[in-house]
Amino acid sequence: MKFSELKIIDPLLKVLGEEGYETPTPIQEQAIPSLLEGKDLMGIAQTGTGKTAAFLLPILQHLAAIDSDPEPNSPRVLILAPTRELAAQIDNSARTYGKYIPFNHTVIFGGVGQVPQVRDLRRGVDILVATPGRLLDLMQQRHIRLDKVEIFVLDEADRMLDMGFLPDVKEIISHIPKKIQTLCFSATMSGKVESLARTFLNDPVHVEVTPQATTVELIQQKVLFVIQEHKDEVLIDLLREEHLKKILIFTRTKHRANKLSMNLNGIGISSNAIHGNKSQKQRTQALSDFQRGRVRVLVATDIAARGIDVEGISHVINYDLPNEPENYVHRIGRTARAGAEGIAYSFCSSDERGYLFDIEKLIKQDIEVIDHPRHSKKAQDARGPSSRSAHKGRGGYRGGRGGGGQRGRGSSQRSRGGSRRR
Ligand code: AMP
Repeated sequence: MKFSELKIIDPLLKVLGEEGYETPTPIQEQAIPSLLEGKDLMGIAQTGTGKTAAFLLPILQHLAAIDSDPEPNSPRVLILAPTRELAAQIDNSARTYGKYIPFNHTVIFGGVGQVPQVRDLRRGVDILVATPGRLLDLMQQRHIRLDKVEIFVLDEADRMLDMGFLPDVKEIISHIPKKIQTLCFSATMSGKVESLARTFLNDPVHVEVTPQATTVELIQQKVLFVIQEHKDEVLIDLLREEHLKKILIFTRTKHRANKLSMNLNGIGISSNAIHGNKSQKQRTQALSDFQRGRVRVLVATDIAARGIDVEGISHVINYDLPNEPENYVHRIGRTARAGAEGIAYSFCSSDERGYLFDIEKLIKQDIEVIDHPRHSKKAQDARGPSSRSAHKGRGGYRGGRGGGGQRGRGSSQRSRGGSRRR
């Protein structure tokens, strides 16, 4: 299957060629024809499956056929994403794919000043990518009206619900015109996602893709059994090895991320922490320092790490195991990008043993156990809590990788295709 067989227009085909995309991914192949016909869509797809292009290409194709400027403060397309990173990443992709199409786009999210965002909105945008909080805020201040929206996309609906955005999302949906094209994407399907989707999708086409297992297969995975109190020492021993160059470490809480980062800096291992309590500026700075190699270690929590797209991460270390096994796949997928091999170490204490069982069940393989001076047999033999009992119905695994990243700044861009003619 070729992109041209999907009836994609030349200005988009040209970019796809430049980007080196040879064939559509399964989600693109299945979703694009229906979306070009204007149908609603429920897509079950993780990050890394090419879902962003699956919805952006038809949207851009729709915009390419319109020959008028958008009205001030009234976007034509609204894409809602749960995190700033993801929103920025979608906006970046819109810029890339829409390089040869005249259209305006901007991204808005909290944690940064609203003035440039308001200015962009006033100029008129075709595509608005937004996180729910800032969108509602600007709607209440009358900087945004949704009555001219023609296409609405809710991305990562499951994450949106996990993050407590349901009331905000419902409120936003209540302002969107009824008979427009609507799309909902979610990594996993649950009753809650389904009932939310039902409130705005109209006779949707259902598309579900299984994530590519290659990400996991390419990664050398190792587990170190250890008691909680020895995690720091074991980590420091690991970090003394020079071939560990660019290391992303995951902790379960913000507090633990801060504490660990401080400890590492205290012994001369340059590190930074990112998590939800940091300002957008701090997060951007931390990511850029890590990307450039100014700090060797980035300590992150799961939510902060979503959408991070840093090149060349050599190692992922799970200082704490995630209590949702899907997050394990998501975390380790940060290494081994673009076909490269990566290494993931996981520390497992006795109270995390059950999480490890769940992870091994999900990835359908036993993770290699590494012997080390602080090895804890007690942890290895323990039966810890199982996440499956606490998180019913979260089946399927979240494969793939982040993509995109921190490049968006909330500024409006007119793509290179030039101005519209009225
Ligand atoms: P996404 O799932 O949208 O985050 O996309 C994951 C990654 O796949 C991004 O880095 C895209 O640039 C890339 N990608 C999307 N579509 C294709 C394609 N058809 N062929 C190759 N790479 C793609």
